[in-house]
Amino acid sequence: MSEYPRSPLMGQMMSQPLLISSIIKHADRYFGKNEIVSRRVEGDIHRYTYSDCHSRSKKLANALRGLGVQMGDRVATMAWNGYRHLEAYYAVSGSGAVLHTLNPRLFPEQIAYITNHAEDQYLIFELTFLPLIEAVAQHCKTIKGYILMCDRDRMPAQSALPNLMCYEDLIDSNSDDYEWPLFDENSASSLCYTSGTTGNPKGALYSHRSTLLHSYASTMPDALNVSGRDAVLPVVPMFHVNAWGLPYSVPLTGAKMVFPGPSLNGKSLYDLFEAEQVTFSAGVPTVWLGLLNYVAQNNLTFSSFKRTVIGGSACPPAMMKTLRHKYGIEVVHAWGMTEMSPLGTCATLQSRHLALPEEGQQAMLEKQGHVIFGVDMKIVDDAGKELPWDGKTYGNLLVKGPWVIQDYYKGEGGDVLEDGWFPTGDVATIDGDGYMQITDRSKDVIKSGGEWIGTIDLENIAMAHPAVLQAACIGVLHPKWDERPLLVVVKRPGMDVTREELLAFYEGKIAKWWTPDDVAFIDALPIGATGKVLKNRIRESFRDHVLPTA
Ligand code: ADP
Repeated sequence: MSEYPRSPLMGQMMSQPLLISSIIKHADRYFGKNEIVSRRVEGDIHRYTYSDCHSRSKKLANALRGLGVQMGDRVATMAWNGYRHLEAYYAVSGSGAVLHTLNPRLFPEQIAYITNHAEDQYLIFELTFLPLIEAVAQHCKTIKGYILMCDRDRMPAQSALPNLMCYEDLIDSNSDDYEWPLFDENSASSLCYTSGTTGNPKGALYSHRSTLLHSYASTMPDALNVSGRDAVLPVVPMFHVNAWGLPYSVPLTGAKMVFPGPSLNGKSLYDLFEAEQVTFSAGVPTVWLGLLNYVAQNNLTFSSFKRTVIGGSACPPAMMKTLRHKYGIEVVHAWGMTEMSPLGTCATLQSRHLALPEEGQQAMLEKQGHVIFGVDMKIVDDAGKELPWDGKTYGNLLVKGPWVIQDYYKGEGGDVLEDGWFPTGDVATIDGDGYMQITDRSKDVIKSGGEWIGTIDLENIAMAHPAVLQAACIGVLHPKWDERPLLVVVKRPGMDVTREELLAFYEGKIAKWWTPDDVAFIDALPIGATGKVLKNRIRESFRDHVLPTA
């Protein structure tokens, strides 16, 4: 695999492949008594230990062997965050097969496309998704059998699915006498498809090595800072970019794991945070909206929650301030993407930033932050020329590193890299301290009179208005300027604000010509399969919007 020259004198340390199975082995051996708590689709709370998880993962690995799953075969899952899904993470990858996590929020046609493209051999899924799977199964050409993750008494009396098996039967009928195989660390371990808002979804195929390096790096104090003293509740789903690596990085540290299952509403999450004394969590901004609303409406506080990572789309500063100042929760703003396993940058302060006044610190924390060691980044203009790190000049953001994609699965998408760098499709600035800030996705930037207007700033300002729950800014065609910004707003329940008040709210906060030309109020923003606002959908709805000609 290595394309690099060999030194005449090679190091003499043990050559042990970096394999995913080593994480669960380690968790069992050193943190065997530590707990994994899951809210189940069945409705109850399930608890067991890392040792139990390891034992059942080995039983599942034996079961998969019995079903004829070979190294490199793809085994799909469609499941919530829960203990059985974690077992599948280790059983599938640990045995040398490839875990393909399917996102149930995709359209059925996309799900069928992806399973065929991945050539999945088996599909392990949860009860919630039985109707969806029954609907798409006839189009999934390569799947030889379906494994339903539920208690035996919940198995359907009859189903249209061919070769339907009960997960618990497979676990019960197999022994945990299983030796995790050793193989090349560059072997594929798991497969995630991008959500494919344009064109067909594309597969990012991770390796054991990339996953292990990402896991090590992401636990560092200035990244996710996970330790054995934490109780971690990943809200970010295990069906989207491996829940930002938490199913690997949490067992690696021995932290208590708390899985929310299908219940992601404010009340269910709050109850679980309190009952299990969760200290650390991670999710996209839209999830925190629900939780924060519930907590505010019921005048509640958190008794153990100390830190959260927010990423996937820009964390609105107003949300960050509420979490920090009202509830005393540290917010780590993180940026990454499916093609990066996903973590690239995190915004945490360095010693010298502690001397900054509060607004200065907040401004640093609002950025997407510094790279995690292992990742390198740069910004370039359209001709590929590197741009200065002055915090003002924005350009196309490129990255490289051992957990960054080299090529899409099956080589799709043409030449992925530009001179060895992966173009992220994001537009960003980098400041003199190396802190990156995303201005926009290149396809969302508003092009007005030959200049660019970043939509994230415009949305963040609107969301700081007390009557605004959510805001999205899009470019609308304009006869003179090509495009001008239209602000689309969802009001907070029971609160009111006018177009004029909102536009006046921008005064003094932004260059005058960046101010949106108009405001539209809607009931809800369209949210996609990964919890992000679907700007292309909003653009379609407002394609014929006529801006006022003042
Ligand atoms: P997709 O949703 O297209 O499948 P990902 O879930 O991998 O892809 O999303 C990656 C993209 O999400 C990034 O390229 C970036 O545009 C956006 N993103 C992720 N984190 C942040 C953040 N903290 N701030 C702004 N944008 C972000």
